[in-house]
Amino acid sequence: MEVRPVLWVVIPCYNEQEVLPVTAPMFLETLNGMIARGKISDDSRILFVNDGSRDETWNLIKKLSQEDRHYSGISQSRNRGHQNAVLAGLMEAKDSCDITISIDCDGQDDINAMEKMVDEYLDGCEVVYGVRSKRETDTWFKRTTAELFYKLMSRMGVETVYNHADYRLVSSRVLQHFADFKEVNIFLRGMFPLVGFKSTSVYYERAERLAGQSHYPLKKMIGLAVDGITSLSIEPIHMIAKTGMAVSVIGFIGIIWAVVRELTGHTVAGWASTVCIILFLGGIQLLSLGIIGEYVGKTYMETKHRPRYIISERTGENKE
Ligand code: UDP
Ligand code: MG
Repeated sequence: MEVRPVLWVVIPCYNEQEVLPVTAPMFLETLNGMIARGKISDDSRILFVNDGSRDETWNLIKKLSQEDRHYSGISQSRNRGHQNAVLAGLMEAKDSCDITISIDCDGQDDINAMEKMVDEYLDGCEVVYGVRSKRETDTWFKRTTAELFYKLMSRMGVETVYNHADYRLVSSRVLQHFADFKEVNIFLRGMFPLVGFKSTSVYYERAERLAGQSHYPLKKMIGLAVDGITSLSIEPIHMIAKTGMAVSVIGFIGIIWAVVRELTGHTVAGWASTVCIILFLGGIQLLSLGIIGEYVGKTYMETKHRPRYIISERTGENKE
């Protein structure tokens, strides 16, 4: 008989006490459905990663894990952000399963796409990206900023799958290699394409959050974009160099022009233009320093080799 793969579903949760009771049974039902249809092993499980929640989330996870053996959970020692929470879950899973699927816990990503992902795995793909085909349920603002985000990423030389966030299937084979990517600044959706292996996409429609609130306001989105770009690409530094080059050429032409005007008896008029140019150049210089500083800062953080996640507790662990 063919051996059925063990699937671990990795679900980051941060202050999700409102939505968890709604979505947890949905995840279990989907898992049980796949087990019943013989797609995955009965040893498969749902792994919740509590990302230092301040509410009842961890207690809920502990309770769930007592109700059904398919539920389990780990808790991070403090809030470290979505990317680190997913990473902690994937690293926890990699030696115990054949495949992982990471998915948000708020029900926005269509749970039914999981089975399609598993089918693609059974057909030989090692990475399956969940891609949003429509974003009609998102507000106009969220949709536009999100689209801008993906366009900016590709402009800046970061290879990502358009409209793919962090809903994806990854085989443990890929995770073993992924574990060799030791960087502290992580941007998962840009890193998996670097690992390679056969991949494909599965399309689904994004729904509205079932309860609770988004933790990704515009400020965090911009932060994620800056992190994603600076940890995967040095294109911004190239752009600074090119801008610097262009500005110097223009400046040089300006000087020649001023000298010619002087020699032909026309004095260069006004100081306003001079001040404008100084301000403009000053601005560009500050921006450039800021961008370079961002990279220096990243390098600094990387040299510390701090742990990327710290697991403080696991469900099923005997704690006195
Ligand atoms: N999340 C997390 N740590 C954080 C913020 C969010 O683990 O610091 C989780 C959250 O519980 C959810 C997922 O990441 O499962 C996506 O967050 P959210 O739904 O708030 O973002 P959005 O879907 O609005 O982009
Ligand atoms: Mg969400």
